[in-house]
Amino acid sequence: MVTDVAYLDYNATAPLRPEARSAMVATLALVGNASSQHVGGRRAAGEVGAARRQIAALIGSSPGEVVFTSGATESNNLALSLAHARGSRIVTSAVEHPAILETAKALTGDSTECLSVVGVSGDGQVDLDELHAVVARGGACLVSIMAANNETGVLCDLDRIVSIAHQGRALVHTDATQLVGRMPINVADLDVDLLSLSAHKFGGPQGVGALFIRRGLALSCQRLLYGGGQERGWRAGTLNVAGIVGAGAAAAAASAAMPEEMHRIRALRDHLEASLVARVPHASVNGHASHRLPGTTSITFPAAPADAVMTAMPHIAVSDGSACSSGAPGVSHVLLAMGISPADAEATLRFSLGHATTSQEVDRAIEDTVSAVQAVRSALVPR
Ligand code: PMP
Repeated sequence: MVTDVAYLDYNATAPLRPEARSAMVATLALVGNASSQHVGGRRAAGEVGAARRQIAALIGSSPGEVVFTSGATESNNLALSLAHARGSRIVTSAVEHPAILETAKALTGDSTECLSVVGVSGDGQVDLDELHAVVARGGACLVSIMAANNETGVLCDLDRIVSIAHQGRALVHTDATQLVGRMPINVADLDVDLLSLSAHKFGGPQGVGALFIRRGLALSCQRLLYGGGQERGWRAGTLNVAGIVGAGAAAAAASAAMPEEMHRIRALRDHLEASLVARVPHASVNGHASHRLPGTTSITFPAAPADAVMTAMPHIAVSDGSACSSGAPGVSHVLLAMGISPADAEATLRFSLGHATTSQEVDRAIEDTVSAVQAVRSALVPR
């Protein structure tokens, strides 16, 4: 991206891909509700159908298993509500996004009998022994573990999680918001039951997401929204046709470019990370070194509070912890769960790169971060 700001905050939201923008602009000219029978309605429904096939192709599902929503927050709420109507106990992890943790707490009354929150290791990986023990106790209706963490990029071992959950007769949901469109994923091979995604993380518009619901799952009629019978009854409301078309176009573009983008983005991320660790004394990377998204790095700069560092580098767009919880006071629950001290967690920046990141942006981010951390540290030194 060429602007006066180096944008390294793709985990908060990614810039719209040109393919998504032009598909959306063309669709905005259509007049028709996708549920209407007349020609405009049928055209809108046709566009939605094409987008559904593009999203399905990205995750390896069939189109009929994709339910469009307003984003991953809604997809997560719907997934947990559907599963919870089958039983009472939800199992999840300590590093999930608030759209999982808060939903799980609300559904279970936050009781220890009905909600089990599994811990992670120092490198951010879900403790599979603990997960196994918790599921083996029986009575779990759902295991919901994120595919990739939004703050550290750490990936989970979905194969093993699915096998542990299914052995315990629980359904498996994965919040794959940060992974879909950035790395390959195939719901059929993985055998997950439910998966959430969000278009704006892979170059589609904000406010459009989807929930994959495996065909044939025995789910009750628990709904979040009651109204018309759109989305085969799973999600009432007039479809956001232009947004859905943009999501589909972004999915197709992300899928076609994925091998090249993964390689290029990983090289840029590794250069950024290695340069900062080499040039900033005591800087350290959080999370598993290789089992990570290609574009994410979480780096602690001890004795340099992240808010002060970000203020000192106004032309670099990065994040302290997760953008969804910044604005709310408190230290990152993800970093604390990994055993990082509150002071170090507050001195942590997340850099997230993506499809339009350039090496110039990365080089600027390196220079500005090195100077900003130095400036903040020297301003904080007691005189
Ligand atoms: N889950 C994860 C892991 C996320 O990173 C986000 C977005 N920050 C969400 C869910 C919520 O997604 P949306 O913005 O589409 O509601």
